[in-house]
Parts: sequence; C-alpha cells; structure tokens
Amino acid sequence: MSEDLYYKTATELRRLLENRTISAVELVQSAIARTKATDDKVRAYLDTNEDEAIELARASDERRANGKILGPLDGIPVSIKDLIVEKGKLARCSSRILENFVSPYDATAIVNLRNSGAIPWGRVNMDEFAMGSSTETSYFQKTANPWDLERIPGGSSGGSAACVAAGQTVLSLGSDTGGSIRQPAALCGVVGMKPTYGTVSRYGLIAFASSLDQIGPFSRCVEDSAMLLDAISGYDPLDSTSYSGDIPNCAQAIPEKKGPWKLGIPKEYFPDNLDPEIRTAVEAAVDNYRARGCEIIEVELPHTELAIPVYYIIATAEASSNLSRYDGIRYTHRSEESTDALDIYFKSRGEGFGEEVKRRICLGSFVLSSGYYDAYYLRAQKVRNLIRKDFQNAFKQVDALLTPTSPTPAFKFGERTEDPLTMYLSDIFTINVNLAGFPALSLPCGLTSGNLPIGLQVIGQPLKEDDLFAIAHSYEQANDYWKLRPTL
Ligand code: GLN
Repeated sequence: MSEDLYYKTATELRRLLENRTISAVELVQSAIARTKATDDKVRAYLDTNEDEAIELARASDERRANGKILGPLDGIPVSIKDLIVEKGKLARCSSRILENFVSPYDATAIVNLRNSGAIPWGRVNMDEFAMGSSTETSYFQKTANPWDLERIPGGSSGGSAACVAAGQTVLSLGSDTGGSIRQPAALCGVVGMKPTYGTVSRYGLIAFASSLDQIGPFSRCVEDSAMLLDAISGYDPLDSTSYSGDIPNCAQAIPEKKGPWKLGIPKEYFPDNLDPEIRTAVEAAVDNYRARGCEIIEVELPHTELAIPVYYIIATAEASSNLSRYDGIRYTHRSEESTDALDIYFKSRGEGFGEEVKRRICLGSFVLSSGYYDAYYLRAQKVRNLIRKDFQNAFKQVDALLTPTSPTPAFKFGERTEDPLTMYLSDIFTINVNLAGFPALSLPCGLTSGNLPIGLQVIGQPLKEDDLFAIAHSYEQANDYWKLRPTL
C-alpha cells in the first residue's frame, strides 16, 4: 500500500471510495501488500483469508457501481480477533485446544459487519482465551508492538491493536473483559473502545467471562471508532443479555455535540507510583480540556482498589464454567495418549490449555466450590455493586471521567510473565469499568521519552456513547497525537 493510503483513516478512505479515487479491490490488495511487507516483524495475523477478502471487495465495488452501497463502511476491511467466530473459518482463540475448530456459523457482530458492507479480513492474534495483558499467552505466536519490536503490544487484543498501528488494516474488532481493548490501544497508540455492556451482541464471541465480555472497535481516530460501533451494535435476540432499548447513532452525533462538558478526575487513578511520564501526559490532556472551557471536578471512586481482587474472583469463576465445554470429545484438541473417557478429559485439557488458562480454571473452580462460594463469589458480587455505585455517584456531577488507560507504557517481552500479579496490575485502571458495565475508550495523548505511546481513558455513562465519542473527538481535534505513526 502506498504510504499515503495505508495510514489513512476509514473516514478518509470512505471519501476516496465515494469519489472513485480508489476501488475496494485496490484497498484490500494494498492492505494485503502492507501486511506481507510488515507482518514478519509484527506477527499480528494468524490467518489472512486473502481470496475471500478480494471477492468481498469485488462485490462492494459492484454495489457501488450500481449505486447500492450498504453504508459508510462499504468496502472497508476490518480484521477480526481470533475469538469472534466466522462461518467456515478457524476460530482458535489463540489456544491449542481449539487448533482445528472451524466455526459453523457467524457471530452477530460479523453478520452486522457484513450487512454494513465492511469486509471481515483476517484473524488476528490474542492472549489465549483473552486471558492476559500482553498477547504473550497465545499458543501460536508473539505479536510485537510496532513502536518497539522488543516490546509487547498489550493484550489480550494485541493483534488488533498492532495491525491498526502498523498500517496493516484500518479497523479491527477486539473484545474487552477487563481492559483488553483499551490497554493494547493505549500501548500501540490507536483508539480502542469498549461499549456499554449489552450494546454489542455476544452471540458468537467465544466466552471468557460472560458478565464482563464486550466486543468493540479499534481504529486510528475517534470518528472511525463511532462508525464501526454503529455498524456492529444493536439488539440481538440470540444474546439473552443484549440491550433491547434505543442506542444512540454515534457517528452522526459527534459533530452535533460541542460541549463544554463537566469532566471528573478520580483521584484514585493518579496514585503516587504512577509512571511520571504518563502522569504528565494525562494531566496535560486534562489541562487541554480545561483550556477549551470544560469544568474539571475532582471525584472519588473509593472502591477502586478492590477491583482487581473482585475481578479475579468473578472472571475466573465464569471462565471455569465457560471453559468446561472444551472436553477433548467435541470440536477440541484430543490427546493421542488417552485411553478411556476420563483420560480424554484430563489429557486433552492438560495438553490443550496453556499455563495462564489453567491458573484461571483452578482459581475459578476454587472460588465456586462448596463452602467457599459465599466467602468469595457472593462477596465479590456485593463489592461489584459498590464499584458500580461509585461510578453512578461520580456521574451525578460529571459527563465523563478522564484517567490514564494503563499505569505504564509497553513493557518488554518476558518482563511480567513470571509474575502474574504484576501482569494483572496492568489493568488497574480499566477493570473497574467492566465491573460497572460502563462504556470507555482510550485515545493517544502523547509519547514517552522512549517513543512509546501513552493513552488517555475517557469513561462515559451507560448508553451515552454519543457523548463519550464527542468528548474524545473534541480532544482529538485539538491535538495531533493521534497522527503520530511508528516507523517500521
Ligand atoms: N488482562 C485481563 C485478564 O487477563 C483482561 C483481559 C480481557 O479484557 N480480556 O483477565
């Protein structure tokens, strides 16, 4: 892809498609070429399904020639995290246990994407079963951060963040259970958004922790993120937790909402040990909002420090139940060593799951076991309510909260793999939002002296994604950090 094409936004590409400067086939071919030229370094893609993407692009060009495009994303490629299923394609969740699993159906988000004319293109790497913050637990490969190839891209949607940052694809779908969209977006210098729980259907999203999981967009700018969310969201009878009320049209709302807003700064998100360069960048972003007429109010979220322990009870409990279906009998890896039925379970799961996934299954089974359920799981649910109330109280005074997305910039491969607790702390500013079910996004707000991206997290009110996008967009308009690109 020529340089002036591969780092364009979807909003720009849409115009180029509209005025016939480029065709969808050219766009997809150039994305494939860029990926071929860079993915030996980045290793974001597990599969590229090139022929199918070109076929879909051809169909898009035909629709356009007949004046029948399906929407603003028609003809634009979107890479897919390896846990959102697509009919006829491998969906491996970056796990050995699903190494040969081909999905017999499309996730609702994929159906919606196709109905918008967008082109699902390629499967991208992730932490195994979305458990991790660095994409290092993938069974298949380690994805590198395009800003520094010796560092991790964040996780678990590391492949999605890295491919957008590397100019391989303009949009990607990831999933966020405790920060897996926002944290890698921050570490790779792109925009990543987690919608209100229930807004995007989870049908066909391979489950990790069902009460927390949400699919969401990766992009290079806020407007693109809103367009992609508009395309995939909406009520779905196939997901019992899907929200059936009205949801805003986000892309349309952005130019209409101009502020100024009341913005909350939760003091718990600026601890003394926060990386100083991250503190400086996020405080500068807050000053920028203030200078543009926003009122800045300090707020309290007193139960913040309980979020990590509560999350690692609830998420592991749900995971231990969700992952019990991978039994070595149906659609999973089966151990060749096994003799009888019980042996198949033990050996297939033993060989099929990686260390981190096993740790979570053990922890989850423990907190759900008889005699411990009340002490751990039930109690964690009560604290989860307190965390949600903290957010509800804060939002009585403000339209959004501004915080750092990640307490540190991208770290080196291997730096945290031996110490799960340090790894878990990577999500200290994002996990709370999942427990509360609120929407939030991360957007670029600076670079460290070592040339690593820093992310600003904007947390919004449930079902008010339109305000959230408008608030983030106003910052983007006033600053050029989102235009910075890595050299690959
Ligand atoms: N890093 C967190 C975990 O490992 C969050 C992952 C996610 O959001 N999928 O559980």
